[in-house]
Amino acid sequence: MNTLQRRRTHQVRIDHITVGSEAPVVIQSMTNTDTADAKATALQIKELSDAGSEMVRITVNSPEAASKVAEIRRRLDDMGYATPLIGDFHFNGERLLAEFPECGKALSKYRINPGNVGKGAKGDEKFAFMIRTAAENDKAVRIGVNWGSLDQSLAKRMMDANLASSAPKPPEEVMKEALIVSALESAEKAVLLGLPEDKIILSCKVSAVQDLIQVYRELGSRCAYPLHLGLTEAGMGSKGIVASTAALSVLLQEGIGDTIRISLTPEPGSPRTQEVVVGQEILQTMGLRSFTPMVTACPGCGRTTSTVFQELAQDVQNYLRQKMTVWRTAYPGVESLNVAVMGCVVNGPGESKLADIGISLPGTGETPVAPVYVDGERKVTLKGDNIATEFLAIVEEYVKTNYGENGSKRNQNKIIPIQSL
Ligand code: SF4
Repeated sequence: MNTLQRRRTHQVRIDHITVGSEAPVVIQSMTNTDTADAKATALQIKELSDAGSEMVRITVNSPEAASKVAEIRRRLDDMGYATPLIGDFHFNGERLLAEFPECGKALSKYRINPGNVGKGAKGDEKFAFMIRTAAENDKAVRIGVNWGSLDQSLAKRMMDANLASSAPKPPEEVMKEALIVSALESAEKAVLLGLPEDKIILSCKVSAVQDLIQVYRELGSRCAYPLHLGLTEAGMGSKGIVASTAALSVLLQEGIGDTIRISLTPEPGSPRTQEVVVGQEILQTMGLRSFTPMVTACPGCGRTTSTVFQELAQDVQNYLRQKMTVWRTAYPGVESLNVAVMGCVVNGPGESKLADIGISLPGTGETPVAPVYVDGERKVTLKGDNIATEFLAIVEEYVKTNYGENGSKRNQNKIIPIQSL
C-alpha cells in the first residue's frame, strides 16, 4: 500500500476546518475584488467556495475594506456559506483592527507579514497589537513571510553576520535562511505575546521552484507549525500551473504542507476559480484527496484524426464538474469516480476496463462503434450521432446506482491513508 507519511504538526482549528497533521490538505484561494465592494467580494467568495475553496483570503488594506468585512461575512452566512475568511494585512493591520473591531471578529484567521508590519520598536508594537487582537478574538494567524517583502533589518543583520564569519555562505543562501528565521522568530514572539501554538500557521513563499522546495524542507524540519504551501507569483497559464505543480508535488510527497494556495495570474476573461481547480487536481492526481470525478483521456494521435473524441472528453469533464454541485451531497463518494474516454482500439478497451466507466471511440478506419465498459465489463456498444448524450446518460445512471443511498460505492474512500510520523 502506498502510504504517505505526513509531517507531525500542531492542529489548527479555523472554524469547522482543521489544518495540520492527519487532517486532509486544505485548499484555499484569494479574491481579487475590491474588498470595499462587499457584494462583489461575497459573490466571488461564493464562486470560489462552489469550486471547492475551503477557506478564502481577502485583502484588508484600507478603512473602506475593513469596514465591509463584517458585511461580507453576513452576506455569506445569508447565502448559506460558512467558508472561513482570512484577512490579508500589510502595513496598517493594527490600525484597521483597532478602528474596526467587527472586522477582527468577522475574520476567522489573520495573515500577518512580518516584513510589512514596520521597523524597530514601532513595528514590534504593531505586531504585538495584531497578535493580541487575534488571541482575544480566539483567531488563528498565518505568519506569512514572502521573498518579495522580507524583513529588511533581519536580512541586513544576517548578511552582516555572514560577511563577518570565517566561511561566508553565498548571499542567496543567507536570504533563504533569513526567510525561515523571520517566520520562526515571529512565531516565537507571537507565543510569548499569548497566542497559543495551535493557533499559528507558517509560510515562507518564494517564486522559484527549487528555492521553495529547499526553504520548506528546512522550515518543516525546524518547527511543528502547520505550513501553508504555495509558490508566490507563480505566473500565468501553463507556466504558473506547471511551476506550482512541480514545487508542491515534491513537498506534498514528502508530507510537507497542510494547506495550499495556487497563486495563478488569471488570463484575461478566465475565472478566478481556476486556482482552486488546479489545487484540487494536484491533490487528486497525487491520490491525496478526491474532489471531482476524474476523466482519463488519451492524447490522440494519427489513429484518430477527427476531434470527436477530444470533444467528448471535454464534454464529459465539464459535465462531471458541473454536476458535482448537486452530486457532492446527494452521492457521497462520487468524487472518486474514474471515467475513461479513449480514442481508438490500441489502448481504449484496456484503459476503459480499468476505469469505473470507460468508452473506447473508433479510430480512423475502425468500425464506427464505441464499446462502453462498466466496472471492467463490456456493457453496451454505442453508435450513431448521439454517442455523447447516451454515454453521459450511462454515467448518470451509474452514479445514481452506485453512490445513492444503498450504493455499494457510497463513501468509498480511494484516498491514500495518511500516517503521522
Ligand atoms: S488510444 Fe489510440 S488514439 Fe489514443 S493515443 Fe493511443 S493509439 Fe492514439
